[in-house]
Amino acid sequence: MKKAVVLGAGGFIGSHLVKRLKSEGYLVTGVDLKYPEFAATEADEFIIGDLREEEVCKHVLCTKPDEVYQLAADMGGAGYLFTGAHDAEVMHNSALINLHTAKWATHFSVGKVFYSSSACIYPKQNQTNPDDPRCYEASAYPADPDSEYGWEKLFSERLYASFHRNYGLEVRIARFHNVYGPEGTWQGGKEKAPAAICRKVAQARNGDKVEVWGDGRQTRSFLYIDDCLDGIRQFMASDFMGPVNIGSEEMISINDFTEMIIDISGKSLDIRHVEGPQGVRGRNSDNALIRERVGWHPRYTLREGIEQTYLWIAGQLNQQQEIIDLQRLHQA
Ligand code: NAD
Repeated sequence: MKKAVVLGAGGFIGSHLVKRLKSEGYLVTGVDLKYPEFAATEADEFIIGDLREEEVCKHVLCTKPDEVYQLAADMGGAGYLFTGAHDAEVMHNSALINLHTAKWATHFSVGKVFYSSSACIYPKQNQTNPDDPRCYEASAYPADPDSEYGWEKLFSERLYASFHRNYGLEVRIARFHNVYGPEGTWQGGKEKAPAAICRKVAQARNGDKVEVWGDGRQTRSFLYIDDCLDGIRQFMASDFMGPVNIGSEEMISINDFTEMIIDISGKSLDIRHVEGPQGVRGRNSDNALIRERVGWHPRYTLREGIEQTYLWIAGQLNQQQEIIDLQRLHQA
């Protein structure tokens, strides 16, 4: 039986990946500061631990797993990453996790390490035109990411590539582009645009206005979680080290995206533009390289994935409301 370790297994992508690896017959150890928020973990073993501590990393990797998936990061949506308020924490925390992982994975000669980098590494000057952003892999240099989060990801890509070059560590480096789906953070400040907009629409009543940050003409593409898992697994099985984009090429403006979610809800709502952190003007995945080298491409349309996500978030809101109603009933 193959052994896999998932770092960040309590997070959105990590918790889904644990399920996928279990369904493929792996023995899985998950590590995180916390358990998954929305469903019990399916990992055979789940270690609550802080990967900024070298001893935790060492302990987890000394079992010499065949595959390590490094997804742990200090992470959030635009409201967390693009205000500047968390820059020091983001860089310090995530860099420490990656420094320890690269070192101990090499020391214990683990099979392969998957590293989740991000579309946020791409230079901001290539993403000023919302209709034609350039995000193919080789465009990463000369580097100028628009956030410290992106700089840390770029540093860690280079860190893993260096360990490969100097010590032969087998690595697979992927750049995720906006992954979304059920069981992702949908409130509290760390949620990303798809979940935030689904929540706002689900909370709204007919005639309300849904708030969108900026003028809504900024563009993005969003990747459904099941497609992301397929991409990770196929890339890991390939002989290509990357970095490669794992994203969707279905680019959409935030206005049109919001209209799509309003349409799914069946409500009659308008959009109100408000000030807020927006990130770059345009971003879209370019999947030419991963298509050619790995043979992967997404299966779900944005509408299909968002329908599932909207239903799940609306369900979460209903549950929350039922709890509030029950508490009121008890207090009365
Ligand atoms: P997430 O925040 O849901 O998961 C990250 C997990 O890492 C969290 O559960 C967190 O508790 C854990 N973690 C953070 N610090 C830790 C520490 N010191 N020790 C142990 N665990 C720690 O994020 P996600 O959306 O699942 O993303 C997974 C990875 O993919 C991250 O590295 C992220 O930067 C990258 N990524 C995600 C997206 C996306 O759209 N979701 C896009 C680009 C890149």
